[in-house]
Amino acid sequence: MGNCLIKNLEDLQSGFRELKVTGEEEKEDPSDFVLWKPKKEGEPYWESPWCDGRPGWHIECSVMSKKYLGDQIDIHAGGEDLIFPHHENEIAQSEAANGKEFAKYWMHNAFLNIDNRKMSKSLGNFFTVRDISEKYDLQVLRFFMLSAHYRSPLNFSADLMESSKNGLDRILTAVDKLKSLEASAKTEGLLETEDKNQVNALVEKYEAAMDDDFNTADAISAIFELVKVSNSTTDEESSLEYVTLLKNTIEKLCDILGIITEKEEVILAEEIEAMIAARQQARKDKDFALADEIRGKLLDQGIVLEDTREGVKWKRV
Ligand SMILES: [Zn+2]
Repeated sequence: MGNCLIKNLEDLQSGFRELKVTGEEEKEDPSDFVLWKPKKEGEPYWESPWCDGRPGWHIECSVMSKKYLGDQIDIHAGGEDLIFPHHENEIAQSEAANGKEFAKYWMHNAFLNIDNRKMSKSLGNFFTVRDISEKYDLQVLRFFMLSAHYRSPLNFSADLMESSKNGLDRILTAVDKLKSLEASAKTEGLLETEDKNQVNALVEKYEAAMDDDFNTADAISAIFELVKVSNSTTDEESSLEYVTLLKNTIEKLCDILGIITEKEEVILAEEIEAMIAARQQARKDKDFALADEIRGKLLDQGIVLEDTREGVKWKRV
């Protein structure tokens, strides 16, 4: 902690020197930060009692937060790189202005690494969410991000995405099975206390994990245990009450995490491109019936094709 403080002060001293060079030498102390920046040629500015200029970037957050959320907020989130100086400065400003504790909880998430290396444009290991959406249903990405605690760094790799896809599939398949059992269940019997207790114990495990600073990784493992119980203890003989309890419980716990248990067929960009290529081939072969059939199939999935001079373009409608 001591070292850290000294380092920060040294950084500030050098930052302070740089500021002096840029003409903002009115700071009395290196740990002062700028609330209002004097205007610069060619930049937008506003009139103020201090000078023409614009808000410093820390104060933007305090002001917007006060306007839209009030003097005090429950949870303030952000990347761990913003803890200092940005969030500390937000606290200083807002608490000085409002005389109240600014945020009750701070949630700082760690970085996303790619194949155990920091994601950066210069390394070329840079993906956008849109890139990922071409290969995966974005629900897989959400599930993957929940598989680690938000405060620990998350490593992205093709293998890990595949295993997230399989894990999510296992849950969705179990819910699907429970739904069809629910539709066909004949036996009405009282719920066995033992069965009920087993489900409740796993719900408690899930809740304890979420109460522990949103430990989603452990919460997901409680869902997996429920899936295991479901797969190994339900069949056509199961009572409606038991099947419904399992189904509702898994769905509820997934819903809290934003995981949709409805199995919907999402057509991926890769598949669309492959179908477009097949349609182009069919047209080349003068098999227009097949070409139309492919276009129709895509339309059923909400994909509209547009033949342009630069080739075939598609969009989701
Ligand atoms: Zn901020």
